Amino acid sequence: MSTPEIIVIGAGVSGLSCAIELARAGRRVQVWTAVAPEQTTSSKAAAFWYPYRVDPIERVGPWAAVGYERFARIAGNLTLGPTAGVIMREAIEVFPEPVPDPPWSRYVDMYRHAIPEELPPGYGHGVVFEAPVIEMPRYLPWLVTELDRYGVEIVIRRVDSLSPALDLTGVVVNTTGLGARELVGDARVYPVRGQTVRHRRGALDRVLIDEHSAHGITYVIPRGDDVVLGGVAQEHEESLAEDPAQTVAIVERCTRIEPRLASTQRLGVSVGLRPCRDEVRLDQEVRDGQLIVHNYGHGGSGVTLSWGCAEDVQQRVSAWLKRE
Ligand SMILES: Cc1cc2nc3c(=O)[nH]c(=O)nc-3n(C[C@H](O)[C@H](O)[C@H](O)COP(=O)(O)OP(=O)(O)OC[C@H]3O[C@@H](n4cnc5c(N)ncnc54)[C@H](O)[C@@H]3O)c2cc1C
Repeated sequence: MSTPEIIVIGAGVSGLSCAIELARAGRRVQVWTAVAPEQTTSSKAAAFWYPYRVDPIERVGPWAAVGYERFARIAGNLTLGPTAGVIMREAIEVFPEPVPDPPWSRYVDMYRHAIPEELPPGYGHGVVFEAPVIEMPRYLPWLVTELDRYGVEIVIRRVDSLSPALDLTGVVVNTTGLGARELVGDARVYPVRGQTVRHRRGALDRVLIDEHSAHGITYVIPRGDDVVLGGVAQEHEESLAEDPAQTVAIVERCTRIEPRLASTQRLGVSVGLRPCRDEVRLDQEVRDGQLIVHNYGHGGSGVTLSWGCAEDVQQRVSAWLKRE
């Protein structure tokens, strides 16, 4: 490949989506990453379209809306959907008592209030809607295949600063997630540990969420062949080891709201660190006449926001390159 115009640092869902947006806009892109896509935090995401643990709401809403529309389009394509691991599923979010409709309700299809018969015991309110489920072990390889089609190379290379990339090109996109703490010294980025359990899907086909359970967020996300059960949200905890007590607690909580889980077989446990920040950093800086676009700190919503943020990054880079 000829010299890249843009180097994207990071090959999680943020970096790969940005690289695709930029390549589709006709740019010569290269991706640098410390680890392969299947070893990133992104590979551990549950991953349901749902704005969770992320701010600021006025920017997150429009980014999430772009994501919803893009994922729905992928899922709606009969060939692409199964290849990319994206499907639309009905979801129910349950609450002990009535709450106002969430700000994202206007972005989703088929939004309505649940009827009492749909609610698990002990819940007084629920909202039903349709949203994308993204199976990351299929989706990340599909993004890599897309990049390959555009001739975008993914180079395994850890960097200690942005300088090696800036030495080679005039535009660098920083999508390093939690790595931004060290790479650009951003002390506002911190880990929020998550643990999930995978079971066989059986007949389950509806997403269930209880974000406000006294025992922690509880979710059941049926994918293609399996179902992901969660969850855990431990701020500033960095251990990637399974906590067996948490595994038991997750399965118990999920089985309480979805009793059919009791007869499904366990397949595995996964742990990942959400790259949280008080707000997503998506901004740009000019250093010695070169452009750096930062896009990290997506917390528990990096998949949900990936396309919206990638579109934003692409527009910034294109505007910059056009001015030359
Ligand atoms: C258990 C769990 C469940 C989740 N569920 C959902 C969900 O349902 N929906 C949702 O939208 N989100 C969910 N998330 C959140 C989502 O996983 C993250 O927000 C998202 O993966 C962040 O993606 P990213 O590409 O920004 O970062 P990452 O995936 O962490 O990628 C960062 C990249 O930067 C690279 N990098 C870092 N430092 C350097 C360096 N110095 N040099 C070179 N490369 C570097 C890494 O190697 C990697 O390639 C969940 C997360 C967890 C842990």
